[in-house]
Amino acid sequence: MATSLEIVKGVGQSVHTIPFHRPSIEDSDIAAVVECLRSGWLTTGPRVAAFERAFADYIGARHAVAVNSCTAAMHLALRALGVGPGDEVITTPYTFVATAEAILYVGARPVFVDIDPSSGNLDVERLEEAVTPRTRAILPVHLAGYPCDMPSILDVAQRRGLLVVDDAAHALESALPAGKIGRLGDATCFSFYATKNITTGEGGMITCHDDDLAERLRCLSLHGLSRDAWKRYTDTGSWYYEVVDQGYKYNLTDMAAALGLSQLRRVEAMWRRRVAIVESYDRAFAEVPQLELPPRPASGRHAWHLYLLRLRLERLRISRNAFIEELRDRGIHCSVHFIPLHRMPFFRRTFGFRGDEFPQAEALYERVVSLPLYPDMTAAEVEQVVDTVVQVCRQYAR
Ligand SMILES: *Cc1c(COP(=O)(O)O)cnc(C)c1O
Repeated sequence: MATSLEIVKGVGQSVHTIPFHRPSIEDSDIAAVVECLRSGWLTTGPRVAAFERAFADYIGARHAVAVNSCTAAMHLALRALGVGPGDEVITTPYTFVATAEAILYVGARPVFVDIDPSSGNLDVERLEEAVTPRTRAILPVHLAGYPCDMPSILDVAQRRGLLVVDDAAHALESALPAGKIGRLGDATCFSFYATKNITTGEGGMITCHDDDLAERLRCLSLHGLSRDAWKRYTDTGSWYYEVVDQGYKYNLTDMAAALGLSQLRRVEAMWRRRVAIVESYDRAFAEVPQLELPPRPASGRHAWHLYLLRLRLERLRISRNAFIEELRDRGIHCSVHFIPLHRMPFFRRTFGFRGDEFPQAEALYERVVSLPLYPDMTAAEVEQVVDTVVQVCRQYAR
């Protein structure tokens, strides 16, 4: 993902290319991983334990259980909470496939609820009408880091006797007490995928408050081995273990945890840098008639994992896709979050979607562009993104 000079199409001038994402890897991160390699202990061990403790402290949760992805985290959380075949889990179609996949893993059925057009999160006003006697859980996603209205979601859950597992893959910095996502769900799942707010390459974490649940999660994350089996990963370990449940191979390595611990030390600094970039974007785009800024939550803390710029297509002569092509030709690489799941061939085939079921999700999808947003962007790169976006808007204004 290194930057390079490219020849602008048809202009013949070289331009600095800005990738959609570049992970922030510092010498201290590299040193931490090298130290782990030299220690001779590569898989789940002392660094995972330390990462879990530091993460739980940061979030303000009682427990944190490390796993090897957020997909695994959501699967384990649903499984450990007893969600299974015949159950329905309410979620949003406006997410990455992992969210619905985790529901399918336990044999349950994902039930999509359309989004609130402003936040892009599951519309809490429509939540209750989706509840049936089969509903067991709600799985909200904090899109781009915009915190869901957790008090309202937990209110419905409490009244209707439902579990809440939240997909906080984007929302690390929203989940902490200062972020006031509010009361948390039964389990909250995080991602450390390469593009996420902190990374371990691949990795995930589940936080929860319940001691028994944490114990079950730990057991299931490593082949269903009994609690004491964990001691074989410590200095006092022994060869003996018992398999007490059908578990999974979802444990995180110490190499990944070493990177995670090192990254976690910078989590607030990296968040502040992204906030500063968001402020530059907002300032520059506020007066551009072709653009609509990503909304800010009335309460709670936006984690700003993504900057979802909204195009006012009625004021542009080009589509969103063409807009992205124009930016790419000028060296700016963007993305789209997300292609709604009900449009995907697998979900159409399996659940019979025609494509028009979730109009708000469709409408948002048609006009969003995710701009580069990461702490290692230089001031010049931010300026280049701003100038280029404004230039394309002017050129194609209607
Ligand atoms: C990245 C992502 C996931 C999956 O995370 P992994 O750690 O790659 O499994 C889940 N949900 C959302 C919304 C994501 O963006």
